Amino acid sequence: MMGPSHALSGAAAWLAGSWALAQFAGVSQSPLEVAVGTAVCAGGALLPDLDMSGKVTRNQGGATVARTFGVASLFVAEVVEKFSLGVYTATKLSRDPRRDNGHRTFTHTLPFCALIGWGTTALATAYGKWAVVGIVFFMAGLALRGLFDEWAERAGWVIVTLASAFIAWFTAANLPGDRGYPLLGLAVAIGCVVHILGDMITKNGVPILWPIPINRRMWRMVGIPNSMAVRVGGKVEVIVLRTAFTVISLLSIAGLFVPGVLERLNLDVWASR
Ligand SMILES: [Zn+2]
Repeated sequence: MMGPSHALSGAAAWLAGSWALAQFAGVSQSPLEVAVGTAVCAGGALLPDLDMSGKVTRNQGGATVARTFGVASLFVAEVVEKFSLGVYTATKLSRDPRRDNGHRTFTHTLPFCALIGWGTTALATAYGKWAVVGIVFFMAGLALRGLFDEWAERAGWVIVTLASAFIAWFTAANLPGDRGYPLLGLAVAIGCVVHILGDMITKNGVPILWPIPINRRMWRMVGIPNSMAVRVGGKVEVIVLRTAFTVISLLSIAGLFVPGVLERLNLDVWASR
């Protein structure tokens, strides 16, 4: 899938999950907490494609993500791609093909999702609010780039970076500083998992079983058959899936906040009687 679809799927997953938690487990979050979690999850849903360096043609999502923060993120993408290729080459078994590019390898595995989620929570726990601000800055940049790709392309990376900085500043100014924010790691990890699931329905699949060796292969690409696969950037993805993700997001937002608004209105009516 392309960047905007990945970002939307991450946002939808976090909003729907927040709604379900509020509905069935009584976990309530402030609007800001939901917004931060949604942005971080949407950004997390783009993170695995940071394994596509800038040389790849546009329209494949990853290259777009890699340009979020200009040359800095292009460089990071180059490093992530080479590192992933290194992990692939080091752990490949006799039946795994040789590769010279790390795209859709290590960053598209469940251990990567778990690792990045754990790392995020560890950072937020150790450094509190300031780590949260840094994470929000980075993730909001990815989310903006993903969700508003045409705007981001026109505006350029400087504007995207400034907008992310503004979001991070706003978060810092309004977020209570006395907590560990364990949900942030969860948001990043869920975003990554949602990304991998999204790639599974497109051609070629992802190595989701790594590192379980099966038939002398550790990097088996798992996905639906190519004949049924969703074409990247095709009608199913751009119209059907994006509409579905948007509807899920909007319904969840309504479910999360509209009842509260109604209750408050009722209270006001009561109070004025
Ligand atoms: Zn991907």
